[in-house]
Amino acid sequence: MKASFSQEDEAFREEVSTWIKENASPEILHKSFGGTSADFESLLKWHNKLYQKGWLALGFPKERGGAGLDDTKKFLFNYEYSLSGAPRLKTKIPSLGMMAPILIHFGTEEQQDRFIPDMLSAKTVWAQGFSEPNAGSDLASLKVSAIPDGDDFIVDGQKVWSSMANHADWVFALVRTDSSGKKQQGISFLLIDLKSPGVTVRPIEALMDDKPFCEIFFDNVRVPKENLVGELHQGWNIAKSLMEFERINVFPIGDLIYALDLALKHAKKNMSGGKPLIENKAFRRKLAELEVEAKALLYTFYKALSKSNETGVPGVEANILKVCGAELYQKTIDLNMEALGVYAQSWYNLEECDDIVHQITKGWLCARSMTIGGGSSEIQRTIIALQVLGLPRK
Ligand SMILES: Cc1cc2nc3c(=O)[nH]c(=O)nc-3n(C[C@H](O)[C@H](O)[C@H](O)COP(=O)(O)OP(=O)(O)OC[C@H]3O[C@@H](n4cnc5c(N)ncnc54)[C@H](O)[C@@H]3O)c2cc1C
Repeated sequence: MKASFSQEDEAFREEVSTWIKENASPEILHKSFGGTSADFESLLKWHNKLYQKGWLALGFPKERGGAGLDDTKKFLFNYEYSLSGAPRLKTKIPSLGMMAPILIHFGTEEQQDRFIPDMLSAKTVWAQGFSEPNAGSDLASLKVSAIPDGDDFIVDGQKVWSSMANHADWVFALVRTDSSGKKQQGISFLLIDLKSPGVTVRPIEALMDDKPFCEIFFDNVRVPKENLVGELHQGWNIAKSLMEFERINVFPIGDLIYALDLALKHAKKNMSGGKPLIENKAFRRKLAELEVEAKALLYTFYKALSKSNETGVPGVEANILKVCGAELYQKTIDLNMEALGVYAQSWYNLEECDDIVHQITKGWLCARSMTIGGGSSEIQRTIIALQVLGLPRK
């Protein structure tokens, strides 16, 4: 494996880093730690700047408004993006990160023309409506029903944990259109306008002081049949493809390197026993161990990248990166909390503490979710055991 980049790729990396430095405002830089983000209005402004630059849908074909970048350039863009401290674009992840690739693979030409341009400009913001109170890891148990009625479906039931649905205009949802066979059969993929009569979106209060999730209630909601993506009852296959895109999005490696750098910076500045913390042997050892693990993960990323450049798909490394990356990231944020020392205790009074302390403590709370969102670590390990190691199912 050759772990270096071409001159052209290195020039692109430089261009990205310089452009972000020159264009990102202080309102959005260094506000995205542990999966937290800048406020929604600032995110929208930043989304639009990237849109004008043509750097939103990195891998999409140019005729669909994308940048048409190959996987290596996408990797370099995302890496430099994280290192610069630019925010996670929550206006983009469900729409351009998940929904648009699905429309390109499974949607009709009309659906692509109707929805993708407004996703690019963030004129419409999307949410994901998969999980339900009794269907998370066991997603196929979902019960929200969609019954055909003339040109429409009538949708009833409840979704939960829908990220940013309070800011969204549309939700892409998995709904039950048939209950007679195996539970994976009879699921369909439906696009629902959240302004439709009968829809109620209710934010859920969270410990990290904002409202990252919502419940969505559907009460006799009419949804036109033209909003069905793919074939009726065939939504499960679409959902499986979408989750691959989601897992690739969940963990950016650059965020981990950024978090390690931050721990180092604080350890040089903060004192412990009359000396800078970085001179404490136990701390140095922990930092060094995490750096070694991060390096190993980076090389696994490169391996996935080479594979994806050769075959068009990242392969099983995507699941491995999701599990190891999320767990390593949590350990790195724990180390950041240690580097903050007593200041980390101000987590209970977030509004009044120093901005970076705020970011780290909030990020520490938020990062707990990384081993759950996009499929929990336990479920990922089961997939790896069955599909990679070929272990027998009990
Ligand atoms: C940050 C974040 C964002 C999210 N955003 C969205 C969103 O936008 N839209 C959406 O639809 N959902 C979203 N979710 C929900 C997410 O997909 C679910 O939380 C996840 O699938 C787990 O489901 P659950 O919460 O019902 O937990 P459960 O499925 O009840 O699992 C609880 C625990 O049991 C373990 N477990 C369950 N089954 C097994 C098994 N067979 N073997 C071993 N262990 C098992 C799990 O690993 C977990 O530790 C989000 C979640 C998070 C954390």
